[in-house]
Amino acid sequence: MLERISVQTHDLIIDGRRVPASTGRTFDTLNPANDAIIARVAEAGPEDIDAAVRSSRTAFEGAWGHTKASERGALMLKLADLIRRDEDELVQLEALDSGKTVSAIRRQDLPAVLDTLVYYAGMADKINGQVIPARTDALTYTVREPLGVVGAIIPWNFPLMIGMWKIAPALACGCTVVLKPAELTPLTALKIGELALEAGFPAGVLNVVPGFGKVAGQALVDHMDVDKITFTGSPGVGRQILHGATGNLKRVTLELGGKSANIIFPDGDIDTAIKAAASGIFFNTGQVCSAGSRILVHESIHDDVVQRLAARAKSIRLGDPLETATGMGPLVSEVQMNRVLNYIDIGRREGASIVTGGSRHGVAGCFVEPTVFAGVKHEMRISQEEIFGPVAVVIPFKDEEEAIRLANGTVYGLAAGVWTADIGRAHRFTRRLKAGTVWVNTYGPTDIRLPWGGARDSGFGREHGEAAIDNFTEPKVVWINIGR
Ligand code: ADP
Repeated sequence: MLERISVQTHDLIIDGRRVPASTGRTFDTLNPANDAIIARVAEAGPEDIDAAVRSSRTAFEGAWGHTKASERGALMLKLADLIRRDEDELVQLEALDSGKTVSAIRRQDLPAVLDTLVYYAGMADKINGQVIPARTDALTYTVREPLGVVGAIIPWNFPLMIGMWKIAPALACGCTVVLKPAELTPLTALKIGELALEAGFPAGVLNVVPGFGKVAGQALVDHMDVDKITFTGSPGVGRQILHGATGNLKRVTLELGGKSANIIFPDGDIDTAIKAAASGIFFNTGQVCSAGSRILVHESIHDDVVQRLAARAKSIRLGDPLETATGMGPLVSEVQMNRVLNYIDIGRREGASIVTGGSRHGVAGCFVEPTVFAGVKHEMRISQEEIFGPVAVVIPFKDEEEAIRLANGTVYGLAAGVWTADIGRAHRFTRRLKAGTVWVNTYGPTDIRLPWGGARDSGFGREHGEAAIDNFTEPKVVWINIGR
C-alpha cells in the first residue's frame, strides 16, 4: 500500500474539478511515524478560497437548491456506498497522514463516518416546518431554510470523522460546503471530495481546499459570502474565528478543547474504571478533545489506581500505525510532539512525579511514551491546560464536594465521567458537573444521535442529532392573510 501511495501532487477540488492553487504553490504532508513525505498538496490561498465560495454559492442558488430533499439523501447514501467500497484506501490514507492506528480507524472512525452519513441522509427529507395557528385571519407557518454556504474548518485528530460531522448535516439541510482540512491531514478530505463527485453531487456542493489556517482558514472566515463557519479546533483559533466572523455576522459553531475529569469512587467497578481511564487518555495518542486527561481518584484507592493505570500505560504497544497490532501511534507532528514533551517538563518542574513514561519513544517519528503523573496539584499547569497528548494526571480527592470542585475547576466544559454504584451519587454528579456530556460508569463513547459540544473555553453550540439541523437552517415565517 505504501508503494501505491507514492509521492504525488493532489489538487484542490473546486467546482467539480481538480485544480492547482492559483499561485501554483504546494505543501508537503508527512507521515508522523517516520517523517517521510507522503504527498504534495496544492496550497489554497485567498483567491482559491474566493473561487470555492463563489462556486458553492452558485451551486446553492442553482443545482443544489433545485435538488429534492429525498435526492439529497439518496446522493448521501451513494457517497456512503463509495466510502465502503474504498474503505481500505481511506483507512490507510488516514493512518499515513495522521499517525492514527489502522485498527482504531477501522473500528471507530470509519463506522462513525458511515453512521453519520446514513443518519443525516435519512433526515434530509424530514426537515419540517410547523403550522402555528397564531391568528384567525391568517394562515401562519414556518419552513426551515438552509443557511447557504458553509465554511467547515476541521482539525487533524479525526479528519474523516469530524469532517463528516460537519459535511453530512450541512448537505442534508441543503447547504453547500467549502471544507478546509487541517494542513497536517488533508488527504482523506480530498478523497471524500472526489468520492462526492463520483457519487454525482453537483459541482460546488462540496469544495475541498487544503491550506494553512492563517491563510486559507482565515480567508474562509473573513469571506463576506460565507453564511456559517463550523469549526473544531483549539480555543485560540476559535476566538480568532469569532472575531473574523463579525464582518457579515456569520453564524458560528465552535467545538474546542477540554481538560475533562474522569472521577473514580471506591464503590465503582474499579477494574473497568481503570481500563476506561487508560483508553480515555491514551486513545488516539491522547489527541482527543474529550480525553479524560484528569483522573480524579478517591484517596482510599488512589495508590492502587495509580499503580494499575501505570501498568496499563506500560503495556501499550507503540509502533507503526499501519500494523494492526499497534496500540498507539505517534503524535501528529513534530511540533505537537515537542509541545507534549514540553508539558511533561513543566509537570516535572512543578513538582509532580512521573509514575511511568515521560520521554520520547525512539529517535524517528513523533512518538511519546504513555505518561502518568501522580502527586499532581489542581493548580499546576499540567492539571489546568490541555496537553493533547498521552499524558494523564492523577489527583486524589476526599469527598464528593472536593471532587466536584476539582472537576469543574478549569476553563473548559466539554465532558466528564464518574464511576460509582451509588445511583444517588451518579445523579448528583450528572447534575453538578459542568460539561456538555457526562458519562456514568463508562468513558468516551459518542453517538451521532446525541448532541455534542461544550461550554466556556470548550466552545458553544451543539453538533450531532437534531441539534445540527438547527446549525444549518433557519426558520422562515410565512403569513398569509386570509381575511375575516
Ligand atoms: P492545532 O493548534 O491543534 O493544530 P488548530 O485549532 O490550530 O489546531 O487547527 C484546527 C483547524 O483550524 C485547522 O484546519 C487549521 O488550519 C485551522 N486554523 C488555524 N488557524 C486558523 C485561523 N486563524 N483561521 C481559520 N482557521 C484556522
